Amino acid sequence: MKHMEKRTGARHAIAVVGGGIAGTACALQLAAAGHRVTLLVGAPLSVAPVEDEIRYYALSPASVALLSALGLDVESLGACRYTDMEVWGSQPRDGLHFSLADAPQSLPALGHIVGHGRLLEALRGQADAALECLPTFAQAVHFHDDGVQVDCADGDLVTADLVISAEGASAVLREAAGIDMTGWDYDQQGIVANVCCAGGMQRTAWQRFLATGPLALLPLDAQRASIVWSANGMEAERLLALDDAAFGVELTQAMQGVVGDITVESRRAAFPLRAGQAARYYGDRLALIGDSAHLVHPLAGQGLNLGLGDAAGLLAALEQHSRDLPRALKTYSRRRRTAVEDMIAVTDGLYRLFGPAGPSFAELRDAGMALVNRSAVARQWLVARALGLEGRLPSA
Ligand SMILES: Cc1cc2nc3c(=O)[nH]c(=O)nc-3n(C[C@H](O)[C@H](O)[C@H](O)COP(=O)(O)OP(=O)(O)OC[C@H]3O[C@@H](n4cnc5c(N)ncnc54)[C@H](O)[C@@H]3O)c2cc1C
Repeated sequence: MKHMEKRTGARHAIAVVGGGIAGTACALQLAAAGHRVTLLVGAPLSVAPVEDEIRYYALSPASVALLSALGLDVESLGACRYTDMEVWGSQPRDGLHFSLADAPQSLPALGHIVGHGRLLEALRGQADAALECLPTFAQAVHFHDDGVQVDCADGDLVTADLVISAEGASAVLREAAGIDMTGWDYDQQGIVANVCCAGGMQRTAWQRFLATGPLALLPLDAQRASIVWSANGMEAERLLALDDAAFGVELTQAMQGVVGDITVESRRAAFPLRAGQAARYYGDRLALIGDSAHLVHPLAGQGLNLGLGDAAGLLAALEQHSRDLPRALKTYSRRRRTAVEDMIAVTDGLYRLFGPAGPSFAELRDAGMALVNRSAVARQWLVARALGLEGRLPSA
């Protein structure tokens, strides 16, 4: 039995369950703050070669600052910065344009596109050096007045003052604590792939709202991009069944030539799209973070950013109420649920506003976009939220 000695005072013995990006970053932050942390990573790390990577995330400046505070420079992990965003429905000229000038403070980029494998590998490397990492899954959890015990798949038992579920959407610990997850299915798949754009990416993140769902092109370098093409069941199946050449032609047409001819460079994969959140992000000696606590539509690229924000929010609440764990957990849950609720409302609102556009609705939408585009205040409001800059950036 791996027993985590209970310490008095402001520092806790903490078991983090789930070695995804949110869980590993959270474990590192807590360890850096002096807590005694054990990370149950789940499956051993298996990182695809860079050329086979198709999972990319748009990281906000707030997330990049958080990772930098952990000693990770995302650009040295191959992340590509973007300085502009173009969002439109019918015609590119009638859409929204965001640039660095719309950011509420001086920034080098509106965001960075980083590959899942390289980021996770770097975080896990740091975790291996800084804390106890166990290559096993949590199978069951037992909450007691004076601590919590996690039963591991390999037969080990881990005891702690607090357990954090960073298990992703299917969370054993959340279910064991009886915390409901409410939400909805978009009946859509998000198709991801890597492509090459003959016209260049111009350090811009492009997103078009098609009648069938949003389509995003995120820059990987001067010419390459990661796509997220959201489409409902039958349309997604049709797109997945196309050969690379036909898919490239449809993609070029869908993007209306803004980045020139598009050719496909990778396999395609599809992810079901859902939204929702847990009724509360805490239980007795339990905190939920990341996809274990909430799911959002990827159209605003915010799921992982929210998970990293949870990690920072949990640490802040534990610092604020260092001698009152129940109060720290309630404070964390209240603050983060409100922030996430706002983000779900904004992304779901955008999805519904821009998604099912009939011809007359599309005109209204385009007029609305043109109005926002003319208003510097409206653009700055939207950008501040997308960048995660309503609060302060985590300090390095
Ligand atoms: C198409 C698409 C595009 C997206 N694009 C973006 C984007 O641009 N920007 C963005 O911010 N977000 C984006 N997201 C959202 C993002 O992918 C998720 O929010 C994020 O990956 C969740 O990270 P996580 O660490 O919380 O969970 P996960 O990545 O699911 O990690 C959970 C980990 O816990 C482990 N685990 C599970 N159960 C146990 C257990 N019982 N014991 C031990 N370990 C366990 C798993 O093996 C896994 O390693 C996108 C999502 C989709 C579907």
